[in-house]
Parts: sequence; structure tokens; C-alpha cells
Amino acid sequence: MRMSRLFVSTLRENPANAEVVSHQLLVRAGYIRQLTSGIYSYMPLMWRVLQKVAQIVREEMNRAGAQELMMPIWQPAELWQESGRWDVYGKELVRLQDRHERDMVLAPTHEEVITSLARSEIKSYRQLPVNLYQIQNKYRDERRPRFGLLRGREFIMKDAYSFHASQSCLEQEYRVMADAYRRIFERCGLDTKMVRSDSGAIGGSVSHEFMVLTGAEDGDQQSGENDVFHCDHCDYAANGNRAEARLMDGLTDGQEQFPTEQDVETPGADSIESLSKHLHCSPSLICKALLYIGDEKSPFLLLLRGDVEAEETKVLNVSGAHEVRMATAEEVAQYTGSVKGFVGVGQCGLSITAESATTHAASLAVNGHTLPVYCDSSVANLKHFVIAYNKPGWHRVGFNWDEPTQVFLQQHALDLRLARVGDGCPNCEPGRLQKTRGIEVGNIFQLGTKYSEKMGARFSAEDGTEQPFIMGCYGIGVSRVAASAIERFHDKAGIVWPPSIAPYQAVVVVVNTEDDTQMRLAVQMYEVLKEKGIETVLDDRNERAGVKFKDADLIGYPIRITVGKKAGDGLVEIKRRYEDKATDVPDNQVVSVVRSLLQTWHAPAFSGTVPVTVGVG
Ligand code: ATP
Ligand code: MG
Repeated sequence: MRMSRLFVSTLRENPANAEVVSHQLLVRAGYIRQLTSGIYSYMPLMWRVLQKVAQIVREEMNRAGAQELMMPIWQPAELWQESGRWDVYGKELVRLQDRHERDMVLAPTHEEVITSLARSEIKSYRQLPVNLYQIQNKYRDERRPRFGLLRGREFIMKDAYSFHASQSCLEQEYRVMADAYRRIFERCGLDTKMVRSDSGAIGGSVSHEFMVLTGAEDGDQQSGENDVFHCDHCDYAANGNRAEARLMDGLTDGQEQFPTEQDVETPGADSIESLSKHLHCSPSLICKALLYIGDEKSPFLLLLRGDVEAEETKVLNVSGAHEVRMATAEEVAQYTGSVKGFVGVGQCGLSITAESATTHAASLAVNGHTLPVYCDSSVANLKHFVIAYNKPGWHRVGFNWDEPTQVFLQQHALDLRLARVGDGCPNCEPGRLQKTRGIEVGNIFQLGTKYSEKMGARFSAEDGTEQPFIMGCYGIGVSRVAASAIERFHDKAGIVWPPSIAPYQAVVVVVNTEDDTQMRLAVQMYEVLKEKGIETVLDDRNERAGVKFKDADLIGYPIRITVGKKAGDGLVEIKRRYEDKATDVPDNQVVSVVRSLLQTWHAPAFSGTVPVTVGVG
């Protein structure tokens, strides 16, 4: 490709709305153009990158025995009603109507369609197992489309679905997919960490995410959207929305400080900080209560020790709501008759009902309402502690749980808190948790029979009975992989593509296009490289050399071949994108030198070594 013909325009300035490096560079280097929020055109350079990622994914999926197909994106609502997701998916699901006013969706994922296919096509265990995948656009009306291709509303995904007659067969396929994923990301030049994850809306029990770790250097934007906690001792690693943590300090008994239970006046002490100051006690001696609202209508309380924070996804999952948020001051008044900072269960105490064992919720009768109360395990061992009781300006100290509550807490307290750096590893004794940021580029789920049961997708098993399919599903964000590679590999001047997914391998820059010798040699190099299968761009534009070098760096071609003054001696300069110094190479050795430079590629990751440890706070 000649640069003078390439459909690309580079920009000198970062776009105003681009917060992260990959978004900035993709726009500046002319890879993407935004149509509307979260929706982009992939320009020719970008499309080459995306096709390379897709091809790597395809080759490894095929190698692992999966078969590619292509399913419709435009789907009838009935299927989604069958699975129940029409009601639970929320606003992320793009809903529309056809000309007959029939409800339709644009697919955010394909469990429904694939399950209906299996239902009609697979009759017998003899047709199992099977793993089917596709690579196509997905549609999600994300609440916060941002970060360019990292979180779009239209994006490219590889989604695969496997069907099995037994759990052990599913587990075997799960391992095969995990291996395929490792190879895929490695071939894309990315080192990833496989971490336990929360299954979220897709459901199922066991699931893992593949994270590109992006712990950042000073001053660099942290583009990882997820916190990843990992143990400094064993190989435990989990997404922040799932990570469990052992509390390290045993300081939960205030016997010495508050030997007797009594009410104390605490005017204005409406935060843990001000309350602990006021009472001269540790935050870990306080039981805090947070009022949440589920789906804009269902209030519930959360109890946590004063020194820990709630983890939103965990709270969401336990509440059974689709969305949760903290209550406003008005709602706090409405449901508790109190004010923020003074909500608590410290007077009438918790009631434990017959349902509590199944819902894991106690309840509190207050101000004419009965609120479900979910308790984090951090409050289970509190003794002689501090608690509010819905009376503004007052707290109770030296409080203890009554017997039934104590029993309930031992059995039904939940994990609702955010893990912290330095907390104990849930898996090993000496281990402490460390934290880094990560971008989820793929995930694998053991779905089990969640969809097949709901949609009546069954096969006849070896023993003659009708059984629901046991399913797995496996996703990779193809466009997100490309953007993650930039987050990982870039410098001040631009993108440093891993060669395997670069749009072109090399650029030949002619210093002076008006010099015939230079131009002739450059064209010759360009033709030879192309002929030998090395994808090359010839920068033949009548621009200053400096401009061309800048663009080459910004676009991120792995190899730069400069044809300048030494052209008369048959010499060109060659360097890798991440190197400062170029070497003179005779024209007849260019192909072999380029090949060996590509083979020994070892770009430094911009964000330092992996894993990166981020300090507290
Ligand atoms: P996330 O937690 O980031 O929203 P998800 O759990 O919704 O991801 P899946 O539904 O499992 O993701 O989709 C599979 C893969 O598709 C993800 O691992 C991610 O790489 C990619 N992906 C998901 N949502 C987006 C998006 N809005 N833009 C780009 N890629 C996405
Ligand atoms: Mg999502």
C-alpha cells in the first residue's frame, strides 16, 4: 500500500473526549472515527488489525475442535421471553419493533438462539459434545460507553457455546477452551491472567475471566476497568467484584472500652470517621448500616463493619435486583425515620424469620416498614461494639448481638465487602492480597442447564431418559483485544503494535521523494518485501521526513525502513518501532533482516512489569 493512497488521516491533538490512551491513539492515528457515542467506523488500518485478531481467534478455536457458524443479530423477543432475559436484561438490551409491531432485539449475546438451534437439531447424546462459535458485531446499550473500543455499544465479539451430555465432559471442554484462550492472547502479544470471576447476568457457577493487567506507571491513565486481586503467596486471583478476603485484625471486642451497654449522645457524628473520633474508638468496632434501593422500589439494609466497604456487584447479586443504589436523604427519612449516619439496628434488634435461612436476610421493623437486612461476615464476631438505632444524634455502645442473631450470623452472614490490599488471601494462610488494574478481554463460563432447562432444550441420553443439555459459553472481545494491546504497548509517540496484529509489518519511508535514487531504491524495497509476504506500506508522500517519521511512530508499524542519503551506496536504515537507533543494512539483506527483527520482537510493555502492585489507597 502506498501511503499517498492509504485512506487515513492522522491528527496532531488528542480528541477532547478520549480519556484513555488506546482511545486517544486510535483516533489520532486514524484507526477509528466515532459515529455516535460508543459506535465507531473501523477505518482500513483498524479493519486490518481486527481481522488479524479475528483470524488468530478463528485458527485457535478451529484447532480446539470448535466449528464456526453465523447466527442472526436481529432476533424475535419470544426467544428472550422464553429464557426470561427479556425481563431481566434491563436497558442494555437494544429493543425495537418490526413493521408489524413485533418486539425484536439486537443481540448482545447468543445463548437464546444457540439453545433454540440445539433444541431443534440435537436429538441424541451421540451428537454430543459440540462447540459452535461465531465472530460478529454485538449490541449493548451500555450505561457508560467510554474508553473507545474498550467499552462500545457496538463491538466485535467471538462467542462460542458448547453442549454436553455430562458435567465432566463440560469440564473437559472448559479446560480445552482455557488453553485455547491462553494461546490466542499469547499470539496477540498479550500476557493475560486467568482469574475467578462473578458470573453476573449470564448465570452459572464456575467462570473465569482473562485479564490483561494494566497496572500503571506514575501519571499514566489507568485504563483497566476492573480491579484484580491476587495473592502474593499462592496463585489465587479474582476480579474485584468477586475477590474474597480474610480480615486480618482481630480487634472486634470493645469489652475494655465499652463494658456496659448504653446510649451515648453523638451529635453530628454522621460518618464512621467522625464517630470513631468522637468515641475514640477504632472504626472496626462500629457496625454500620447502609440503606440501598433495589430497582427504584425495594429498600434494604446492609450491615458492615465500619472499616470495610460494600462491593456493588456482590450487593446487587444478593439483593436479586437488576440495579441498586444508595438511598437518598429523603428515602432514608421515609424508610427509617432517621438521617444518614444514624441508621442502624441497635434498638429493636434484628428479627430472624423462617425465611431468613433461604433468603440470607434478617429483617428490621422500622418507621412502619419491614426492611430486609443483609449482613457482611465482618459483623459476625463483633462484641461490645458501637451501633446506631435510628435516633439522630445518638449511638449505642457496648452492644452485643442477641442469641438468635448470633446463630443467624454464624450461618448466614455473607461476603458483601470489597477486598483490600493487605487483607488475607482466602486460599492460603500466609498470603496477602495485592491489587492491580486489568482489562477483561475474554471469559469462559460453565453455564450448566440454565438455558436448556428454561427453554426445554433436551436430548435423549444413553440411558434413554430425556435430559437438558449441559452448556458452556466462551467469549472474547475482539475489538477490545485490539484496544488492550495499545494500552499495554505504546509510548509517547504512538502505538507499538505487536507484529502479529499490526495492520502492516513494515513501512518504507523515503526521506526525499524528489531524489530519484532514493525513490527508486524505496520502490524496489517495497516491491521485494511485498513479494516475500511482508505486509508493507511505502510512505511516498511529498512531505518532510519528520512528518513521515511522526506518522510512522503514531500508526505503530513494527519495522521502519528509511531510504535516505545512503541510497546511492545501496544502504537503507532499519529499526524496530521501540528502538531509538537504526542500523545500516545493504539493500539485498533487507528481507532477511526484517524477518529476523520481527521474529525476535520484544517490545517493553509501557506499564511496567506484570503483575504490578498498586499501593494502598
Ligand atoms: P464487562 O464486564 O466488561 O461488561 P461482560 O461480562 O459483559 O464484560 P461478556 O458478555 O461475557 O462480557 O462478553 C464477552 C467479552 O466481550 C468480554 O470479555 C469483553 O472482552 C467483551 N465485551 C463485553 N462488553 C463489551 C463492550 N461494551 N465493548 C467492547 N467489548 C466488550
Ligand atoms: Mg457487560
